[in-house]
This record gives sequence, C-alpha cells and structure tokens, in this order.
Amino acid sequence: MAVIGIDLGTTNSLGAVWRAGKAELIPDELGNLMIPSVVAVDLEGNILIGQAAREEELIHPERCASNFKRFMGTTKKYCLGEREFTPEELSALVLKRIRETAQTYLGEEITECVISVPAYFNNDQRYATKQAAQLAGIYCERLINEPSAAALTAHREDGEERVLLVFDFGGGTLDISIVDCFENIVEITTIAGDNHLGGTDFDREIAFAFCEEKGMDWDKLNRRQQANLLLESKRCKATLSLQNRVEMQFCPGENSGMEKLCMELDTEKLFHIGQGLFKRIKNVISRAITDSGLGVEDISGVLLAGGSSRMPVVQMFLSRLFGRDIVMGNDPDLLIARGIGIYTGIKERNEELKDILMTDVCPFSLGIEIVGDVPGGPSKMSMLIERNSILPCRAVGNYVTANDYQDKMIFGIFQGENYNPEQNLKLGDITISVPKAPKRQEGATVTFAYDINGILEVSVVSNSTGEKVNATFVSGYSQLSEKQLAAKKERMEAMSFLTREEEERKAIIAMAERLYAQTSGELRCHIEQAIALYSNAWKSKSPIRIRKWGSEVMRRLLTIEISLRKNVFDLEIEDLELFEKDED
Ligand code: AMP
Repeated sequence: MAVIGIDLGTTNSLGAVWRAGKAELIPDELGNLMIPSVVAVDLEGNILIGQAAREEELIHPERCASNFKRFMGTTKKYCLGEREFTPEELSALVLKRIRETAQTYLGEEITECVISVPAYFNNDQRYATKQAAQLAGIYCERLINEPSAAALTAHREDGEERVLLVFDFGGGTLDISIVDCFENIVEITTIAGDNHLGGTDFDREIAFAFCEEKGMDWDKLNRRQQANLLLESKRCKATLSLQNRVEMQFCPGENSGMEKLCMELDTEKLFHIGQGLFKRIKNVISRAITDSGLGVEDISGVLLAGGSSRMPVVQMFLSRLFGRDIVMGNDPDLLIARGIGIYTGIKERNEELKDILMTDVCPFSLGIEIVGDVPGGPSKMSMLIERNSILPCRAVGNYVTANDYQDKMIFGIFQGENYNPEQNLKLGDITISVPKAPKRQEGATVTFAYDINGILEVSVVSNSTGEKVNATFVSGYSQLSEKQLAAKKERMEAMSFLTREEEERKAIIAMAERLYAQTSGELRCHIEQAIALYSNAWKSKSPIRIRKWGSEVMRRLLTIEISLRKNVFDLEIEDLELFEKDED
C-alpha cells in the first residue's frame, strides 16, 4: 500500500509518489500529468471530472465548478444542474480521481496521502482539505505547505546551501516563504501570503480593462459572456508567456447586437493593468523579508512555483524589485508535486531520504480576546502563538475573571496580527464554568497546541475546579460528525459517473469539436482525421485500441491547441527591452 502525494491545485491537480529513488509524477491513462481541478454535471446528470469537465465548462459554464479551492472551508455552495456541492465535496471528487489514477498506474491500493496546501491556508481551509480526503475515502495524516514542497525539490536536486525565497503564485493564492537550506536541513523560517491573490485576478483585471476600453459594463454581461471574456483573458495572458503581444477578441453573441471586439495586449500594458496586483505582491514579499530579519541582499535566489509565476511580466517585476537577475526554477507547475513526492518518501522513512529534515512554521499569530486597557472600552488581543513560530508549538496563558461573581469565562479564539480582535479572523469560542467569586479570584489556564499540519487545538482548564474543555478550532459548520460524514460519503457514492473510457471520449470529442470550430484548412483536416481514427478505435470495441488512440489523439489535439496560441503574432521576447527602457 503506497502513500501518494497530491498537489491539489486551484487550476490543476497532480499526483506523485516516491519510487526507485526518485519522485515520480503519476500520469493518467492518456499520459496527462495534470488533471484540471474542474467538476461538472452533464445534461444526463453524470459527474465529470478533469479535462471532460473543463470542456463542458466552455459550453455549459452553469453546470461546472472550478477555482473551488479558493473557497475551501467556507459555506459557499455550488449549484451544478440539479445538484448542490460544497467546495470540500468538489475537492473530494478531484482527490478521488487522482487516487483512482494512482491505483491504476501503481497497480496497488492507495489508502493514504499527503496533500499540499498553500502555506497561508487557515485552520478552516486545512481542516476542510483533510475532510475532502476523508470524503474521497483516503486517509490524509499530513498536510504540507506548498512552498515547503517546492523548496524540498530544489534542495534535493542540487543540495546547495543558501537562503531561498519561494515565490509560489498559483491561480488563487500567493505564498512567500523564506527558506534556509543547509546540510540536510530545509528550514522554513518565515511565511507570508495572500489567500485571495493569483492568476485569476490577472484574468479579471484584463477582462475589466477590456470592458473599460470598449465602453462595456462588466456587470451587465450575462454569465456566459463573462465566462467567455475571462477565458479569452486567460488565453491572452498565457500567450504573453510565449510572445510579447496578442490580440484579444471577444464576440458578445448573436443576440447582443454587438460586433466582435478586439484589444491589443502586450506585456507593458499587462504590467499597467496589473499595477494594483503588483503592489499587493510587493507588500507580501516585503513582509516576509522583514519578518525573517534578513535583508534583500541575503536572498540568494527566488524559486518560482505555481502556474502564474510563468508570466514573464511577473518574473521581470521580481528581478526589478530585487535589482538583479534572481529568478530560478524552470518547471514551476511541477515543482510542488515533485516535492510532495519526495515528502512521501521521507514519510515512509525511505533509506535515501532518512537524513533529510524539514521544519515549518505557522503563518499566523493566534490568541484570545481579553478585556482592553480602558474600563468599558474595546477588547484587545492576548497573543499566545506568534506568527512564524516553529511547528509544532504550544503556548500556555493564565487568565482571571474580569467581573464580580461571574459564573463562566468565554474565550474568543482569534487568528491574525491585529491588536483589535475584531480585525482578526475569529475561529470560535470556548466556554468554561467557574465558581462565583469577586473579580480576579477565579481563573483558567488556556493551552494552544498548533500541530505539524497547522491545525490548532485549544484546551481550557478551570484553576479551582480542574474542569477541562478541549476543542479543535475550526468554524462549527465544517466540523462534521461521524454520521454527517458517512451520509456525505454515501451521497458521493450514489452519484452517477461515466466509465473512464466514456469520460475520456466525451473530453476528446468536445475538445476536437471546439478546436475544429477555431481552425481552418489543413488543421481542420488533421482534426477530422484524428476524430475518424478515434471513432474507429471505438468501433473495434478493443479497450487497448481505445486507450492507445485516445492518448494519441489527445496528444495531437494538445499540439494543435498550443500552436493556436503561438501563431497569433510572431514577435519575440526581445521586444520587452522597449518596456524596460520605458520603466527606467
Ligand atoms: P496553479 O494554481 O499553480 O495551477 O496555477 C494556475 C494559474 O496559472 C492559472 O491562473 C493559470 O492561468 C496560470 N498559468 C498557467 N500557465 C500559465 C502561463 N504559461 N502563463 C501565464 N499564466 C499561466
């Protein structure tokens, strides 16, 4: 029974395992390493996961969910067709798919996994991730921070001693970690981040800029128009990773009375469109460096992770910010997954990895609300665990009653850096009874234990009666009882899934039809030929032929998709010089 690592990404997810002395990424039956983190319910009520769901999203966005990682641990509900899902349930479907893929690839049952999460995930989001694994029927004892996984890959690959800044910029999150790599130790010293800043914000800013330039009101576009415009923004953003200029095109639709609209986009314009986002990125980096007690000059390299760090404009911005050529890491999408693969090896105490030690820190301060300094005035925080304390950690605080003859003490537990509790995230309350007595004569001892997964447990003990109350701190709604969990699992099992072959067929045909509509001439002939080959394989009813031609046709379609992106303009990256001169 192998343990697998899962990079549960906002946009794509990957599985990895430690095998034969290295981290191996797990391909699906068609040879794809990345599974789109998208779930859909088709018109027949079948659940689609991955590429088939991503294709469905282009035709029926209202029946699809993506980017749900951003909402883990919240009460957000996704309504797909007649079904409603929580972000945890959607993530569980993706995890289930990766588990099945790994089982087919490795030929053994997978019962345990390690999942990577953004370092800046809070208690609720971490707990929700573990719960998603439970729903998917796979035990997840360990969560690992994404930047830590990336640093582990970098250190394992060349073993150099240095201080790295891991810049992990995904679809929905930015995580910055300062990592000290020396001997066999990978020590995460500081974490800072923004849970709501990622590539999709660039997509939105581009779409908004398009609306502004064309005099359109974003809020007046219907859901399908918004989805199409966002998709086009995303396409253009990715194209700018290959060339310096692209033409953005948007067809409002037949009944809108509007013609096709176009906007030129280049790296310089993207930089201006993203000004607000770059300011936010700069603030997070500054906070991380300040907290680490180091100077900018102590950072030897910026390690890129996450799909959005592929953007040349982001890399240029980083080099500018540090005043030197500092960016490293040429495969940001796979860095984290490889790191979790390595971690599964460490977890299984593999001989080659037994000397490696990795330490992590907590991203937030944690404390309780206490009476403020001014009688009757606002309350204040009593911090028990400071941010960037090494995990696991514990802290104890003693508190006395504030009023005469009160019979209980209520402790509000908060996470965040503000002096004023109201400005921080409330994790919950814990209440304990105390004997009635004049103020300050009764009290309780509060213990915070922050575990290696970044999940907080709190215990409160009354000083005079010894009564004890324990709680794992996540907001009540996400803490499911055994019964609720079993009911949810049952609901998931009762869902209707296509066979893997049928789902692949749906994805391939939808993709082929979409590309056919976008192309002409010779490319169309290639697509027609690919569809014919694939249909013949299906007619033969031979599972081996279906698989073989499925992966071949998928490979050809992906090549066409990439070539479509590349051929819009033939400008070279060198043109960026213009932008650099302007900036100076
Ligand atoms: P992740 O959450 O790490 O999977 O990152 C996904 C994000 O990276 C999405 O917002 C993508 O649009 C973005 N992304 C992926 N590839 C590229 C690329 N070549 N250029 C720009 N953005 C990209």
